[in-house]
Amino acid sequence: MNLRALIGLIDGDLVYDYFLNKGLINPPEEGSLCRNCGTGKMNKQKCDSFPGFEFRCRNHQCRQRIKISSTSWLLYNVKLPWSTILLIIYCWSMQYTTSQAEHEIKCNKNTITSFFSKLRYATHLYCILHSKTIGGPGHIIEIDETCMVKRKYNRGRYTESMHTWYFGGIDRTTRDFFIVQVPDRKKKTLVPIIRSMIIQGTTIYSDSWSSYKKLCDEGYYHDAVNHSIGEFVNPDDHSINTQLIESTWSGLKRFMKKKGEHKDGNIGNYMSEYYWRRKRKLEDPDMFQAALQLLASLVPQSDEYEEFEETQ
Ligand SMILES: [Zn+2]
Repeated sequence: MNLRALIGLIDGDLVYDYFLNKGLINPPEEGSLCRNCGTGKMNKQKCDSFPGFEFRCRNHQCRQRIKISSTSWLLYNVKLPWSTILLIIYCWSMQYTTSQAEHEIKCNKNTITSFFSKLRYATHLYCILHSKTIGGPGHIIEIDETCMVKRKYNRGRYTESMHTWYFGGIDRTTRDFFIVQVPDRKKKTLVPIIRSMIIQGTTIYSDSWSSYKKLCDEGYYHDAVNHSIGEFVNPDDHSINTQLIESTWSGLKRFMKKKGEHKDGNIGNYMSEYYWRRKRKLEDPDMFQAALQLLASLVPQSDEYEEFEETQ
C-alpha cells in the first residue's frame, strides 16, 4: 500500500468496508442475539455519526445500543474521520515525524501526537502479548547491556543526567530478541532475566562482565569476549563476539534519537515500537499493513457471537 492507493481508497468511499475487511471493527451481525439481554435481536438503525448506522436491541425492555466505534480498540474515544485515522496510521507506519504528518494531513499537531502515542501503546500491548522465551539447544544468543543517558538542561548551571540501563539478547538464527529496562547490571538483576527469557541449553555469548560468570551453572553454554582489554572478538574463536546485539543497540539508539523531539515520558513504549518495527519488518516490509494487523489484533472479540453462529 502506498499513499496514492490509500487516497484512492478514501476518495472511493470504501472506508467502512476497508475497516471491516481489515478487522479493525467488530460490529454485531444483523439479526444476531443481543449480548446484554440474550433474547432480543440486534438490528441496524440510522444514527448521525459515521458510518451512519448503529445496532440496537429490539427487546423493548433492553434497547441496548452498540455504536460501531465501540467495537474497536482503535476508534474508542476518538472523534476523527475514519479516513483521517487511516492517513495518520499510514504516516506513523512510515515513520513520518508529527510535523511531516501535520503537513500531509492538515490535522492538528496535538491530535497527531496523541494518536501516535496511541499507536505506540499498541506496540507495547503487542510486546506483552508476544513475549516468549528464545533460543534453545543449538541456538546462539548474544547478550549485552547498554546505557542510555538523557540530559536535562536546567536553567541554572546544574545538569541532571538520567541513566537508564537496558539488557537484551538476540538469537543469531531466528533474530528473535528481547530488551528489558533494568535498574542496574548486578548479577542478581540479570541472571533471573536470562533464566526467564532464554531456554536452557542455549549457547550464550557475552562480554566478560562479572555478572555473566558462572552462566554454565545455570544450564547454558557460555563464551565471552573481553571488551575491557580491547577485544572485539574472542581471540581463540572469532565467531564468538557480540556484534549483533551491539548493532541492535545502535539501531535502538538511532531510533530513540529520531523520536527524541516528542518525549512523552514513556521510554518503554518507544522501545516497544522499535521492537515491533524490527520484528515485523522481517516478516512483512509493508509496515502500513503490519500496523493494521497489529490494530486488528486488539479488537475486542465476543464469545457470544461464536455461540450464536453455532445455533444459526
Ligand atoms: Zn438486548
